[in-house]
Amino acid sequence: MAKISKRAGLGILFPDRIAGANPAYRTHKTSSSVLYLAVRSKYFLLQITFYLTQLALCSIIVCMRKRPDLHNLSKSELIAEIPLACSDETAAVEFFEFQRWGNTPCCVKCGSVDVYQMKDAKTGQRNKRFLWRCKDCREQFTVRINTVYEESRLPLRHWAYAFWRAATSKKGVSALEIKRHCQISYKSALFLMNRIRFAMAPDLPTAPPLIGIVECDETFVGGKPRYRGHKQGWSRANKTAVFAAVERGGQIRRQVIADVTGKTLKAAIRQVVDPRATIMTDEHTGYKGIGKEFTGGHETVVHSRREYCRGEATTNTVESSFALIKRGIIGTYHNVSREYLHRYLWQFDFVWNGRKLNDGERTVAAIQAAEGKRLMYKSAVAPHA
Ligand SMILES: [Zn+2]
Repeated sequence: MAKISKRAGLGILFPDRIAGANPAYRTHKTSSSVLYLAVRSKYFLLQITFYLTQLALCSIIVCMRKRPDLHNLSKSELIAEIPLACSDETAAVEFFEFQRWGNTPCCVKCGSVDVYQMKDAKTGQRNKRFLWRCKDCREQFTVRINTVYEESRLPLRHWAYAFWRAATSKKGVSALEIKRHCQISYKSALFLMNRIRFAMAPDLPTAPPLIGIVECDETFVGGKPRYRGHKQGWSRANKTAVFAAVERGGQIRRQVIADVTGKTLKAAIRQVVDPRATIMTDEHTGYKGIGKEFTGGHETVVHSRREYCRGEATTNTVESSFALIKRGIIGTYHNVSREYLHRYLWQFDFVWNGRKLNDGERTVAAIQAAEGKRLMYKSAVAPHA
C-alpha cells in the first residue's frame, strides 16, 4: 500500500524520475537520491492529508452557516441607524420622517408632495422645530402631526429609544428604566410608554379573525404569589383573569376578562375566532359545548390526568404565551394594576405577532402603527382607556 502511494506521489512531483520513465535518470540513480525522494513523497502525502482535512473543516463551517435562520437574526440596516436616532435629535427627526414618508414627504393636511423644509435664516440649517411647509395649502407641519407623539414636548430621540426598547424586549421594558436611560421624569416616561402601548394596540374591528387550529386558555395574572405548600390554596381575589387565543403558527389575541365563567369565555372566543376554526382547550368546564359553534370542532386535553398533548390536541403554545406575560410582570413591571393590564397585553401581543420580523423591522412597525392615532393626556392616564 505504501509502495503504491509512494509511486503515485513521485509520479505527480517528478514524472520523469519514476523508474523506467526516464532511462537517463536510471543511470544516475544513487542510494541518497532514493532516500531524498522517499522523504519528499512522505511530506507530499502529509500535505495532501492536511489539505483534505482543511477542506472538510471548511465545508462543515459553511454548512453550519447555511442553517435556516430560525430566530430571524438576519442583519438589518435599521439596527445601525436606531442607536444614532436615539442620541441625536436631527437624526431622530430624519429617521421618523423617513419611516413615515420614505423619500417623498407629503403634506399631512392636504396630501400634496409639493413641500419644503423650513430653514433657519441665520444658520441655514433646519428650523429648530423641524417644520415643513406645504406650497399648496401654505400650512406648516412636522412629522409629529397626527401621531401618538403629536402633543408631546419630549425630544424625538427619546421616543426613538422608547419605541426601540418596547418593540424589541420580549418581556417588556419598564417606565423606570426609560426614565433612567433618557434622563426624563418618571411621569414623562410612564406617559411615553402608555402612548407607545396605545400605538401597538390591535385594530380589532379590522384585524382578521383567527383561523385553523386555535388554542384558547385563561390564566390569572398579578396579585400575591402562589404558595404551593399552603393548605388553603391561593386566592384569585387579587388576581386578574386574562384570556388568550392563539392561531397555531399565527397571531395571538389576549384580553382582560371579568371572570372565567362559560359565558365570558365563549363570548371572548366568538369575538376573535373564525367560525371555521378548530378550538383546542384544556378541560375547563367553561369551554364545554363551544365545539358546536365551530365547524372544525373542539378538542380538549385533560391536564388533571397529566395529559398535555394528544396528537394535534394541545394547549402548549397558549400556555407558553402566558409564561412570557408572567415573566414580564414579575421580572420587569413587578406590579400592574387591573385597570392598566390591557395596555401591557397590547405590547406583549405586538411583540408576539411580530416575532418573525427582525428587531429593526418590528421597531419600524411600531413607529408606523403610531400614525393616525392620538392619545390625549387625560385618556392616557385614565384606566380602561
Ligand atoms: Zn398641504
